[in-house]
Amino acid sequence: MPDRHPESTDGRAGRGRAPEVPDLKGMTMADLEDLCASLGEPRYRASQLASWIFGKDESEFAAMTNLPASLRNRLAGEYTICRSRTIREERSEKDETRKLLLEYADGARIEAVILDDAGRKTGCISSQVGCRFGCVFCATGGMGLKRDLTAAEIVEEVQTVARAIRPERLENLVFMGMGEPLDNYDAVLKAVRILNAEWGLGIGARRITISTAGLVEGMRRLAGEGLQVNLAVSLNAARQELRERLMPVARLHPLPELVSAAREYCEKTGRMLTFEYVLLRGLNDSPEDASALAELAAGLPCKINLICYNRIDGDTLTPPTKDETKRFLSELRRTCPTVVRRKSRGDDISAGCGQLRVAAGGRADPRETGR
Ligand code: SF4
Repeated sequence: MPDRHPESTDGRAGRGRAPEVPDLKGMTMADLEDLCASLGEPRYRASQLASWIFGKDESEFAAMTNLPASLRNRLAGEYTICRSRTIREERSEKDETRKLLLEYADGARIEAVILDDAGRKTGCISSQVGCRFGCVFCATGGMGLKRDLTAAEIVEEVQTVARAIRPERLENLVFMGMGEPLDNYDAVLKAVRILNAEWGLGIGARRITISTAGLVEGMRRLAGEGLQVNLAVSLNAARQELRERLMPVARLHPLPELVSAAREYCEKTGRMLTFEYVLLRGLNDSPEDASALAELAAGLPCKINLICYNRIDGDTLTPPTKDETKRFLSELRRTCPTVVRRKSRGDDISAGCGQLRVAAGGRADPRETGR
C-alpha cells in the first residue's frame, strides 16, 4: 500500500476523534436545508435554525420557540449543538490580552487568546488539540497532536471569544492558536465559511487570517476556494538547513517549493501574503539571515511580520536584544520595505506567539538536538 501523503486529511491513524453525534453548529445553510428536507420540514426552517444557532448563539433546542415542538424534540434526540466550557481565564497584567482555556464534551482542551489593539479585539483561534509538526520554538508542538477540532468546535470557540468580549465586537480572527489549520483543512474551511456567511457570524473574510507552517498542498487548495481570507506563512528561516532545524515540516516542503506555492497563491488570488518570522537569538537573527529573508521575499507581493520570541519557563531559546533586533530590521529594510515589527502580547500569561499548550510539554533546544 502506498504511503499516504503527510498532508492527507483522511485516514488519520492514531488521531483522536471528536464526538460523533451530528452537530448543527458545524453545518452550512446548504447542510441545514438538506437536514430539514430529510426530516420533511420546509426549507425556511433552515434559516430559523441558523438564526438561533449563529445569530442568537442559542444551543438549547427547547428555547427555539418558533420551531414546532415535535421538531425540537426530534432534533434534541438525534443532534447536538456544540457548547464548550470555559474552565479558566487569565488576564495579562502588562496589556489587555486574555487567554481562555476551553473544554469540549469529550474533555479535549484548547486555548483561545483575545488580543487588544487600541480597543480593537482580535481572536487568536486554535484549530487542533496539539499539533504534529513539532516546531522547536512552539509549545503546542511539544504536546503532539491529540485530535482535530471539528468545524462546530471551531465556530463555538469563536462564539465563546465573542461572548467573552461583549458588548465589544470581534474585529479580526487569526488562526494562529494551537494546531496547523491547513492540516485540518476541511473543518477549518467549513468553519470559515460559517463564520464569514451573512446567515452565520457575518465576519468579513478580509478580517480572517489563516496562518500555516507551509503546507503547500493546503496553500494551493486555499488559493482555489474563492475566499478573500488572508494567508500568513510562518517562515522563521530563509535558509533551508536552518528552517529544517527550526521547523521539521520544512523537510517535506523545501523552501523553493514553498516560495512557488506562495507565488501561485498571490497570482491566483490577487492578494498579498504575510511571512511571519520569529526572531531567535543566535539562530536566525544574523545579517546573513536578514539578507536571505530579503532575497526570498523579493518579487513576491508580501509583507514580513517580525516577532520577538516569547520565552517560556525552562527553555534555552531567547529573543535577540533590542540592538540586535534593530540591526536585523535595518539590514532587512535595505531591500525589503514592507516589514512590520509586531509587538509580543500576553507573554506574562503564556498567550504569546508559540506559547500555547494545554498539557505541559517543554521545547527542545535545536542547538542541542541537532534538529
Ligand atoms: S508553530 Fe504551528 S505548525 Fe509549528 S508546532 Fe506550533 S502549532 Fe504546530
